[in-house]
Amino acid sequence: MLISVIIPCYNEEEVINATYERLKKVFSNSKLNNYEFIFINDGSKDKTLELLTQISQKDKNAKVISFSRNFGHQCAVSAGINECNGDVAIIIDADLQDPPELIPEIITLYEKEKANVIYCVRKERKGETFFKKFTAEMFYKFLNMLSEVNIPLNTGDFRLIDKNVIETFKKMPERNKFIRGMISWIGFKQIPFYYVRDPRLAGETKYPLKKMLKFAFTGIFYFSKKPLKLAINLGFISILVGIFLSLYALIGHFSGIIPTVPGWASIMITVIFFGGIQLLTIGVLGEYIGNIFDEVKKRPEYIIEKKINFEE
Ligand code: UDP
Ligand code: MG
Repeated sequence: MLISVIIPCYNEEEVINATYERLKKVFSNSKLNNYEFIFINDGSKDKTLELLTQISQKDKNAKVISFSRNFGHQCAVSAGINECNGDVAIIIDADLQDPPELIPEIITLYEKEKANVIYCVRKERKGETFFKKFTAEMFYKFLNMLSEVNIPLNTGDFRLIDKNVIETFKKMPERNKFIRGMISWIGFKQIPFYYVRDPRLAGETKYPLKKMLKFAFTGIFYFSKKPLKLAINLGFISILVGIFLSLYALIGHFSGIIPTVPGWASIMITVIFFGGIQLLTIGVLGEYIGNIFDEVKKRPEYIIEKKINFEE
């Protein structure tokens, strides 16, 4: 069984050697000697590519895909899945938050359960901010409320996928990928594996708020059409409120119960309220149109500048 390990790397010069050493140790200490490491250099601006090149010169099982610029974590993982040759692939972060030493256990579980996906669930997340954990929890609950597929809580992309899933994934053509959701959507037999997530070994998170938001929006707008229904529902509610307010104004005016000239506040409130609803729903439409725009352009998801240790 050939095992492919997919490691997306963006500005990871501080950890990349340690990551390689720990992975190497896992694979030389165990029966797992048929493996390939696929490092994806996602347009790093530091020495990551240099270090990866050195590693790949010493070790033919260490392969490198280097992008022409930073395309983002999901594109990097996607490239790894597209280019891997393994019977199973394991996606793991470069910063050693997901301990490589767990890989043999994951593989044992995979063989025992005859599963297609082993997704790793974080029992505990060391060294992450309250803000990150809280927003992540809210986001996944919200996403599960909206979407038809159930995306497990406290789960990242650290997981094992088998050939079936790899091949199915390759046939899914969307440009903006939300990989954990796509794999849940694919189905087959998916089994959780519980673990404790370590803090990042060194360096800063490569997921600033902006990237996190883009990721979250892809998750929502690619996995749910409910926001569109929300727009319709808000439209209906506002029509009802509008009818009610018109009746109130007409009856009030003709019966003389309410003086009609000092109606400034009510006009302001309705204008602001309906203006808000309209902008919100136009925004929702805009998101979907933007995504359709991305898809119809049919640009490649990422550009590979260089590949090392891949056979042509
Ligand atoms: N990463 C990437 N491209 C990016 C951002 C991140 O390939 O644009 C990689 C990064 O090198 C790491 C993984 O994605 O291996 C997860 O990123 P990070 O650890 O910074 O995220 P966090 O764990 O803080 O959510
Ligand atoms: Mg990390």
